[in-house]
Amino acid sequence: MTLISHYVAGEHFAGNPAGQQPVFDPATGATDKEVALASVGDVNHAVAAAKAAWPAWAKASPLKRARILDRFKMILWDRADQLAAVISSEHGKTHDDALGEVTRGLEVVEFATAAPTLMKGEFSENVGTGVDSQMIRQPLGVVAGITPFNFPAMVPMWMFPVALATGNCFVLKPSERDPSASLLLAEWLTEAGLPHGVFNVIQGDKIAVDALLDHPDVKAISFVGSTPIAEYIHTRGCANHKRVLALGGAKNHMVIMPDADLDMAANALMGAAYGSAGERCMAISVAVPVTDAVADALIERLVPKIAALKIGPAADRSSDMGPLVTAQHRDKVVSYIDAGVREGAELVVDGRGFRQPMQGYENGYYVGGTLFDHVTPDMSIYRDEIFGPVLSVVRRKTYQDAVDLIHGHHYANGTAIFTRDGDTARAFAQDIEVGMVGVNVPIPVPMAFHSFGGWKDSVFGDHAMHGMEGVRFNTRIKTTTLRWPHGQRSDPQFTMPTLG
Ligand code: NAD
Repeated sequence: MTLISHYVAGEHFAGNPAGQQPVFDPATGATDKEVALASVGDVNHAVAAAKAAWPAWAKASPLKRARILDRFKMILWDRADQLAAVISSEHGKTHDDALGEVTRGLEVVEFATAAPTLMKGEFSENVGTGVDSQMIRQPLGVVAGITPFNFPAMVPMWMFPVALATGNCFVLKPSERDPSASLLLAEWLTEAGLPHGVFNVIQGDKIAVDALLDHPDVKAISFVGSTPIAEYIHTRGCANHKRVLALGGAKNHMVIMPDADLDMAANALMGAAYGSAGERCMAISVAVPVTDAVADALIERLVPKIAALKIGPAADRSSDMGPLVTAQHRDKVVSYIDAGVREGAELVVDGRGFRQPMQGYENGYYVGGTLFDHVTPDMSIYRDEIFGPVLSVVRRKTYQDAVDLIHGHHYANGTAIFTRDGDTARAFAQDIEVGMVGVNVPIPVPMAFHSFGGWKDSVFGDHAMHGMEGVRFNTRIKTTTLRWPHGQRSDPQFTMPTLG
């Protein structure tokens, strides 16, 4: 049994774990690894290492920081396959999907290599006679990231490249369900020349998270995960006077208008609903065809495609989707399908009976692609985030009905509209109350140089991940007003200073 533990001050660190738990290969259901669950003392050790590294890292020139990240980026390019294999072995996603995750994370590293530009301040001369004013960005200190299981490399890379580029030291607490990718990232950062202690990994559960939330030397917390935990992180972190950005869950709708290219929409839905077995916060889990005719035509296209889905392990490179992450999560997804049937939705394709035919993989956590029709807004399969390969069709009569449906949901992470009509698309993009919108794009994940974040119960906090929002989150501004008197004396002034 291999024990996966922490990485602190440039080396692997065993610590004194509060416990340990198994890490499974979801494709087979087997386990030969356990992850250490950090004690409060282990967390304190990591924060202390980050704090000790911070003064020198904060003073390092942004160009130096950028060059280290640039070397890290090249290592990632060279070893993307290795990282993807590690991701698949604990998460279960297909190899190509894992490679896509690595690429999207790597793009944030590329963005962060612009550190000298990103850190540029502002300067105004002669704001008063002989007086200038400047604004600079300075790092916060030690910042922490707490990440979910579904993107064990990409989501950490939404956070730490920008944090490091802007001069902070980082403590990552990855998901205990797929902890190994974080250690590769840490080793490769060290190899790229990152000074010891600037990036640290602490494995663990609630004990480790709470220790980070309460630690006075942790100045900011980035979180991505489910909404109840996101809200908890935000509340407790803010109570401790930290800057907190906590992204939560999602229920993403795709509206299909009568003028849409239906073949294109059906193909887009397949990838967006069933890719990564639906374990994406930007997965489409609700299709909203406008008019019954569109719904019928769409379902007619979807059913044979779902039947043709190749469900298998990452080891089979022809798999379209893999298993769910754990047996517990598979059981939860199946219980939602049961609930949908009980609540009166029409189960068009039932993924519950799927059995993996590949020898050696019979005990993996597979669920087949599932499709419900005639889903209504009161049903639990509509209200709740299922996070599995389950697509619900909610029929609507008009564009406005579809918009009202979306506005009635408490999640507002992403959404999409499929139409050929520019007016409709423009109105949707402008008026819809959702953070990320796609027009004929099913999973509108913003590029690294823009920022990622939803609205409503999909986010707690005032910023967004990466892009300029990431720079703002990871820095505080300092404004200095400068006068260099040359010869003239000034009298005391007791009124509010104004510069003339
Ligand atoms: P999760 O909320 O269970 O766990 C996320 C992190 O919180 C993990 O590191 C975990 O160890 C920690 N955690 C769990 N319970 C905790 C507790 N009681 N106290 C303190 N910390 C705790 O989420 P998950 O199942 O790993 O990931 C799936 C969820 O993440 C989905 O809801 C998905 O929508 C969401 N997600 C959102 C985004 C986004 O950008 N909005 C992106 C990816 C995933």
